[in-house]
Order: sequence, then structure tokens, then C-alpha cells
Amino acid sequence: MSKEKELLPFWQSKKLEEMSDPEWESLCDGCGKCCLVKLEDADTEEIVDTDVVCKLLDLGTCQCSLYKTRHQYVPDCIKVTADNIETLSFMPPTCAYRLLHEGKDLPWWHPLITGDPNSVHAAGVSTLDKVVSETEVEDADLEDHVVEWPQDPSPPEPWVRYSE
Ligand code: SF4
Ligand code: SF4
Repeated sequence: MSKEKELLPFWQSKKLEEMSDPEWESLCDGCGKCCLVKLEDADTEEIVDTDVVCKLLDLGTCQCSLYKTRHQYVPDCIKVTADNIETLSFMPPTCAYRLLHEGKDLPWWHPLITGDPNSVHAAGVSTLDKVVSETEVEDADLEDHVVEWPQDPSPPEPWVRYSE
């Protein structure tokens, strides 16, 4: 690695497949949007999001409440990897793994930039206060919960101090 690259943060100097496990895990901004229940059109295979989340998501923190052992309870929970990110078209456009895979940088509100794990919530990018648990919704009612905001491609701009 060149001297210039060594001075860059790891997400700018390394490819996804070169990252260590702690680096990889730290890329997750904790938005919780990949934990939304999705519906698939049987004919077109289009996938849409609902505002209903997996039973293991802690609605107060947007974190998986049993992350290490989650597959015991949610066998189809997808583990995002450098190898499969390209195939996960339903990942939100604000997801750090998707952004870096597409050659983009982390957004201004990402916890690795701000040093604050709550900045994803303060920026309004997470699922905080926007979702209900799947334990509260009947499968037959999921269609009534389809939403578009998780796929909003334009992250909010940061507030700047007003000056005349
Ligand atoms: S969508 Fe991406 S950044 Fe958000 S919780 Fe899932 S893996 Fe983490
Ligand atoms: S098991 Fe955990 S990580 Fe997987 S979808 Fe549910 S809350 Fe998200």
C-alpha cells in the first residue's frame, strides 16, 4: 500500500474483501433498514419494503437484539459479505456496504465519520420511530405496510449554521 493510501481511513484505502472483521462490522451504520420485512411480487419478482421489522430488532436502538446467535431464531437472516453485496439489490441506498461497493464514500452522518453511533438516528436515516415489529402485524396485513422511504437514494444534507 502506498504511503498516501496508508494515511486514508480504512474504508477509503481497502477493498471490501480486504477488511478485517472489526472493520467490516464497523461499516454497519445501525440503520436497521435491512431488517425490514420485504414483500416480493410473485410475477415480476419486484421486492418492496414494509415498515414492519424482524422480531429480533430492538425498536429503541435499531440493533439486532441477538446478533451473534440470530440464525438460531431467524434462519433466513442474510449475512452481508463482500461476495454477496452485489446480489442484494434490496439493500437501502444509504447502506455503507452498498455505497462502498458502488465506489462511493460514507455519508456525513455515518458513525465512523461523526464518532457518534446516534448520528444515523439524528439524521433521520434509520428505522427509529418509523417501524413496528412483525410480532404486532398479521401476514395478511403486510401489504398495508408497504413503504418507499427505505429506498430513498438521497441522504439528507447536514444542517449548517445560518448566517446572513
Ligand atoms: S442496511 Fe446496511 S448499514 Fe443499515 S443496518 Fe443493514 S447492514 Fe447496517
Ligand atoms: S435477525 Fe437480527 S440482523 Fe437479522 S433481520 Fe432480524 S434483527 Fe436484523
